[in-house]
Amino acid sequence: MITLKKNITKICIISLLTIIILTLTGCSNIIGSKENDTASSLQQNNQQKNTVSYTKDVYAMDTYMTVTAYGENAQTAVEQAENKIEELDNKLSVGKADSEVSLLNNAGSGELSEDAAYLMKRSLELWRQTDGAFNPAIYPVMEKWGFTTKDYKVPDKEELLKTLALTDASKISFDEGSGSVEFGIKEMKIDFGGIAKGYTSSLIMDIFKENGIDSGLVSLGGNVQVLGNKTDGSLWRVAIQNPDNTEDYIGILETKDKAVITSGGYERYFEENGKKYHHIIDPDTGYPAESGLKSVTIVSSDGTLADGLSTALFVMGEDKAVEYWRNNDELFDMILFAEDKRLLVTENISDSFSSDLNIVNVEKED
Ligand code: AMP
Ligand code: MG
Repeated sequence: MITLKKNITKICIISLLTIIILTLTGCSNIIGSKENDTASSLQQNNQQKNTVSYTKDVYAMDTYMTVTAYGENAQTAVEQAENKIEELDNKLSVGKADSEVSLLNNAGSGELSEDAAYLMKRSLELWRQTDGAFNPAIYPVMEKWGFTTKDYKVPDKEELLKTLALTDASKISFDEGSGSVEFGIKEMKIDFGGIAKGYTSSLIMDIFKENGIDSGLVSLGGNVQVLGNKTDGSLWRVAIQNPDNTEDYIGILETKDKAVITSGGYERYFEENGKKYHHIIDPDTGYPAESGLKSVTIVSSDGTLADGLSTALFVMGEDKAVEYWRNNDELFDMILFAEDKRLLVTENISDSFSSDLNIVNVEKED
């Protein structure tokens, strides 16, 4: 029997938990405004507290999201962010038959919008840089496992091997200048599900900045990106989910101006004959990655990179992830939670991370 274990309520609770932690610690003198707040209540808030805040919950990309900004243009900024989230969801969702990505997948070629072209460029770069661990063409394999329809099943091995042949991203011709793309393999399909949320959160930071906001945050299903400091000048406190109990967390990171993005098998999986099968696929085998990691958190000022790498390093496993970080430590930091409960934290952020678990410091030199 197959049972779906993705529990939306839990995700909602943890994202609320994250926001509560973020806003209660150090922002206690700020009244968070909700979606239905009126302009006058915002103004009153402004007069009383000298800081306007505005928060909105949005459901998009299969995820509960919360967008919060502090500052005079908070409401405008959050509303623009919401519009952008909806625009991106309509363009990128493989679940929507008329999305740009779905139309491309049906046609096998097309001219991409600026957003999709950027994601194609970054995805192909990541595919090269991670030796294929991040693969935007993994979609046909996701289909075989039923992750795209929620009709979950363990596919036949032969069939899976045939499907793997459709995922050769080197066969994608992409012209960055014009945004034109052509799949070199019939039935090839792409999916930006491993990178789109980080791109979304980084664009929201841009929208905040354009509106003169210098303090704000977005949480997308537990993934967080923060702008600046909290309004009292202190660092944001971002809780990292516990993969074994998503209502709990394994530690708290103090940070500013960073995306903190986590990937793990616990986020979406099904069970068949007592075995769990999750949604992050090892492109070498076509099976859910079994790399000895329960979760990978990437911390970077580049939200798109953080999202792509959280998926890729989860596939790679501890040793390759550490090696990858050592070669790219100026671009990101990471927190790896291993199946044996070891918590590995790269040295640049180890002082900013607190946990009840023992922390293994990952250093630049072996
Ligand atoms: P994330 O939660 O960011 O790790 O993204 C997981 C999603 O990325 C999955 O639901 C798939 O849509 C997609 N995906 C799965 N495996 C891979 C992979 N090896 N490379 C790129 N995208 C993947
Ligand atoms: Mg990702």
